[in-house]
Amino acid sequence: MNDKDDKIVQILKQNILRHGALSLADYMQICLTHPIHGYYIKNEPIGTKGDFTTSPEISQMFGELIGLWIVQVWMDHQKPKKFSLVELGPGKGTLMADILRATRMITDFHNSLELILIEISPSLKSIQKRALKGFPAQWKTEIKALPNQPTIIIANEFFDALPINQFQRKSNTWMEVMVNLKGLSGADSNEFCFQLMNPSKEILIDFENEVPEEGCMIEISKTMQDIICCLSKHIHQNSGAALIIDYGKEGNVGNTLQAVRKHRYSNPLSSPGQQDLTSFVDFKAIRTHAEESGLIVSHLTNQGDFLKILGIEQRSKILSKGLSGNDLVLHQTALERLINKNLMGDLFKVLGIRSTKSPPLIGLET
Ligand code: SAH
Repeated sequence: MNDKDDKIVQILKQNILRHGALSLADYMQICLTHPIHGYYIKNEPIGTKGDFTTSPEISQMFGELIGLWIVQVWMDHQKPKKFSLVELGPGKGTLMADILRATRMITDFHNSLELILIEISPSLKSIQKRALKGFPAQWKTEIKALPNQPTIIIANEFFDALPINQFQRKSNTWMEVMVNLKGLSGADSNEFCFQLMNPSKEILIDFENEVPEEGCMIEISKTMQDIICCLSKHIHQNSGAALIIDYGKEGNVGNTLQAVRKHRYSNPLSSPGQQDLTSFVDFKAIRTHAEESGLIVSHLTNQGDFLKILGIEQRSKILSKGLSGNDLVLHQTALERLINKNLMGDLFKVLGIRSTKSPPLIGLET
């Protein structure tokens, strides 16, 4: 273990020794976003040299088509003279750079937009600044302070990075999955283990099946719920829409926690702060919270179908014309990765949210 690993291990350990076992959400939060040693704070996680690759990093077509989707939504809102274009967790800034490049000919759109990026990581923020050089942008760490004007929000692989609590059904009651120090005397240990304990905090356990089976596991993200409520309230008051793209499913049953390091799955309890921790996004919970805030939510579609409706195959043909040899092969492989049902095409889902007054969302409701 090097010094960097050790610091976050010691922070987790001191927390446990002082306050008892950590909920999985608290463990994830420290590992991912601890203000000094958190995974997103100090690493460059995205890309071939990092730990995982995201759709905008695979092909420029992803951002180009989302750019067109955004322009259509802006037009459907009667082309407001001033509106916020917001991205949650912009990573390396590639998606937003492609969006802005693909739409630069639409001058009214560019003149009207106020670009706001919600990013917790100072190191990723400086990478985003470089990627978006020349575009006036504001950075915020929280969604709360958005200006009151029509707002279009996009989020690709943002919600999967938020902390979750896990609960398991044992002898007719819900127990919580906690993270504790391994071994009888924790003080000597630098290793962690999962342990089932009584729930750490009052969390409303939302389980819709009649009788949960013994051993059944569910996941709840309080942070995700809070963000969706805040975002929905904002769109309800100001009009607008949100586009959420992520891996996930409709519901909260199952253990979907995963750790990824250098493009391989890893043990979520090993190398804290050195690897990405994610879970499948519960799109049903997003739907419930957005609808409760008075918004319209589209049906859940998959990334492959969504990109095809927006015209990715036609765009790919146009780009292919200028390519040959290895470049052409790479371009075609990238298209496959994004839309093939056995690759990212089906695993990744797309959900649209909009204010009641806006027209149906292109590619999701039409
Ligand atoms: N959307 C990008 C990156 C996805 S990785 C892409 O598609 O390539 C997740 C991103 O969310 C990173 O930029 C990470 O720093 C940011 N993030 C994670 N947790 C966050 C939080 N609580 N608040 C704001 N940003 C967060």
